[in-house]
Amino acid sequence: MKYIFVTGGVVSSIGKGLAAASLGTLLEHRGLKILIQKFDPYLNVDPGTMSPFQHGEVYVLDDGAETDLDLGHYERFTSGVLTRMNNLTSGQVFDSVIKKERRGEYLGKTVQFIPHVTDEIKVRLHDVTVNNPDVNVLITEIGGTVGDMEGLLFIEALRQFTLEVGKENVCFIHVTLLPYIKAAGEVKTKPTQQSVAKLRELGIQPDIIICRTEADLDEDSRKKIAMFCNVEKKNVVAFRDVAHTIYECPLDLRRDKIDRLVVDKIGLGHTPPPALEGWERFVQRVIHPKHKVTIAVAGKYGLQDAYKSIYESLIHAGAHHNTKVKILRVEAEDVEARGAKDVLGDVDGILVPGGFGDRGIEGKILAAKYAREELIPYFGICLGMQIATIEFARHVCKLKGANSTEFDRTCAHPIISLQEEQIGVEDMGATMRLGSCESIVFPGTKAAELYGHAESIHERHRHRYEFNPDYQEALQEAGMVISSVSAKEGLVEIVELPSHPFFLGAQFHPEFQSKPNHPHPLFAGFVAAALEYSQK
Ligand code: GLN
Repeated sequence: MKYIFVTGGVVSSIGKGLAAASLGTLLEHRGLKILIQKFDPYLNVDPGTMSPFQHGEVYVLDDGAETDLDLGHYERFTSGVLTRMNNLTSGQVFDSVIKKERRGEYLGKTVQFIPHVTDEIKVRLHDVTVNNPDVNVLITEIGGTVGDMEGLLFIEALRQFTLEVGKENVCFIHVTLLPYIKAAGEVKTKPTQQSVAKLRELGIQPDIIICRTEADLDEDSRKKIAMFCNVEKKNVVAFRDVAHTIYECPLDLRRDKIDRLVVDKIGLGHTPPPALEGWERFVQRVIHPKHKVTIAVAGKYGLQDAYKSIYESLIHAGAHHNTKVKILRVEAEDVEARGAKDVLGDVDGILVPGGFGDRGIEGKILAAKYAREELIPYFGICLGMQIATIEFARHVCKLKGANSTEFDRTCAHPIISLQEEQIGVEDMGATMRLGSCESIVFPGTKAAELYGHAESIHERHRHRYEFNPDYQEALQEAGMVISSVSAKEGLVEIVELPSHPFFLGAQFHPEFQSKPNHPHPLFAGFVAAALEYSQK
């Protein structure tokens, strides 16, 4: 087993996750069996309780784990299907140590940061591969920035671990930023030098330094970094801002042969250079599309990354149809303030994503109404599906006061409501309907057509409220088709309107299962409908 550790320096958000994922792509295309995981130093047990406006999207795995959005990059850039074992937080580490202490597992001992907490971290480096016996390279990204107090225990654990498994089996990669100072017309290496010095103080000498730069990395800077950071010049790798799409990242990192450097460092033998033809073709389709559509994503905005996987899925589906998808970020409250026509008048498709809380709800309902009445393709995801049914109940079935009990607990018509098992649940962490479950798709529906007539599908969930079965009949009689229900409980999974070119809502999150060369069928169908609409 070989180990790659990816740390970050200078500033956060420099693309460590993309660097780790891209390295995964390169090694996998060399024929190696890799697995990627992330260690996050914050104290939340998982990011499920964090606002997406602070931390970005919560990415949900098959097994229901609510994880960091970098795991989304890992799944999209490699073939691995990840589990809750692939995201470890300080919250989990401490939770486990304290539970063990209470159970008396350390009886007689003083429980300490070293060795008890660091041991707990090291255990994960073994356990994560237990169910993946054929994996030969484990890539672990350490969240945060080297020098942060909260990351110290993780770095210390890696130092100890390296001694235990042997330096020859470990490769440390440090990702840093080379700022460009306009006034001086120069790229500066000092922050990189200082951040590597910080790492060496903690007992770790990086083997490879990935330098995030706006443009190219000149020879002088490479030499300087090599000398001051104590690495060979060839191990200073440039990671430039990509011009068009994040899927260029593996191609960019390949220019300085990072995969080769890693393979040599940890002795992975003779593997052929990565065969990336399929990946390159995908990138070309993203960069040089024939057509263009504009899709409005009507949500709540704060941080760029709140709807990350949805944007990526639209790119995958666009590439599939040779189409550039221009995303119009629509603040749902604006639709309410300015009117749907004003905000959405020029778009070819409207997507209402998932969400929690009542801000922007009425704007989203107006967006769904506008899409339905104007025959504009509509795709509702999770909350977006609930919005579509509420809108239909209010304006087609004339059920005045139709709503979700999430927004109005005592509404006249609770179209969306809590299931029995959710009533009385008080803990907020990991108590929703989470993860992959099987659903039945009914033949003859749009959904069945899009899923290639599959009778059974598996999709990932993250929600608490459900379509209320008491209202199924009324909505069906008025023309809404229920095209999929969960196999076990019969809960409504997909609704659609056959009288409309494309009006579909899914209670699950298809965006967590779309990949560059395998767009999710619902996204592919939505973008195709938007393209058709744009050409009319
Ligand atoms: N707030 C809604 C629920 O809990 C929708 C959740 C979501 O969109 N992920 O059911």
